[in-house]
Formats: sequence, structure tokens, C-alpha cells
Amino acid sequence: MKFLISYFLLFSLFCSYGQVPSESEYYRRMDLGQQLMIAGDYQAAQIEFLFVLENMEVIPTDLAYLFGRNSFHLASYKQSVNWLNKYLQLKGTKGQYYQEAIQYLQFSEDKYMELQRSLNQDQSNALIASKYDCGGLSKMICPVCKGSGVIFKQGIFDIHYQTCPYSEGEGYLSCKDYNLFMMGVLTLQDSLSR
Ligand SMILES: [Zn+2]
Repeated sequence: MKFLISYFLLFSLFCSYGQVPSESEYYRRMDLGQQLMIAGDYQAAQIEFLFVLENMEVIPTDLAYLFGRNSFHLASYKQSVNWLNKYLQLKGTKGQYYQEAIQYLQFSEDKYMELQRSLNQDQSNALIASKYDCGGLSKMICPVCKGSGVIFKQGIFDIHYQTCPYSEGEGYLSCKDYNLFMMGVLTLQDSLSR
């Protein structure tokens, strides 16, 4: 009897730890993920969805919707768009989550576009370094030579004049160069190599 009990104990231990989860286990975790998502615990939901995604041999189509929607809540907008589109491609208008999928696809696309726009804005801002708008002018008086196009150096006996290397003797900088100069980015090298 004692032998039998320990045998069953061992057997059940073996079943719960040593085996690949059954199909129903995957569906149970998918449902759990859905409940967590609806309850607003998106991180916990993500863990359940990822477990199913990574381990289940054939991924249920509904998971594409669930994972796509949860990705929106986690601000992974591009990922959300991809999965929701996949769901809509596979199920068409007949899917039980059709309306929601369309709705969240719209949300994610909007957010994604918004993000892209602000990213582009940041990038061009960094490139042009347009901290100073130059008052709408395309040229600014060179801050080094004050528009004279020449700078002077105190020599041992007298003052030497020299063409301003920043504005190359013109006395003006383009608005872009003006910004670069103000930010300390424009070096003599940049100015001379053009
Ligand atoms: Zn100058």
C-alpha cells in the first residue's frame, strides 16, 4: 500500500513537471491572459500570451487578436498593428473579435503615426539644430566677424587682418550654420571644407 501511494505520488509529480503542457493548458492560459488584459493587468497578460505564442505548435487565430490588443495597451503599436492585421486577414469579417480588432487597429495606427511624426520632428530638429529660428531670415550676421568678413589678430607689432574662416569673408552664416555655431557644432574644419 505504501508502495502504491508513493508510486502515484511520483507519477503525478512526473505528469505535472516532466511533460509538455497539453492543448487545454494552452487554452486555459490564453483565457487567463484575456481576463488579466480586461482587468487591466497588461504585463501579466503578456506573460500568458507569450507562453502560448512561444510554445504552442499551432497558434490559435484568436491569440493574434488578444496579443495584438494587449500590445496596444503596452504601447508596442507597430507590433499591435501587425498582429491585428494578421487576425483580420485570417478571420475576415467573420471573427468573433472583428469589431474590436478594427477598433484597436485604428487606435494603434493612430498612436504609431503620432509617434513617427514626433520622432521625425526630433530627428530633423537635431539635424538642423534649429534652436534659433533666425527670425525667418535665411542668413545671419556672422557672430565671429560681426558681419565684416574679417577678423583681426593682435600680432607682436601690429594687428593682422584675416578673412573670417567661419563666414569665409562674406560676413554671414546660413541659418543652419548659425545654429550649428551657436551649439558649438560648427568647427573651422566644417566651414573651410565646403
Ligand atoms: Zn564671419
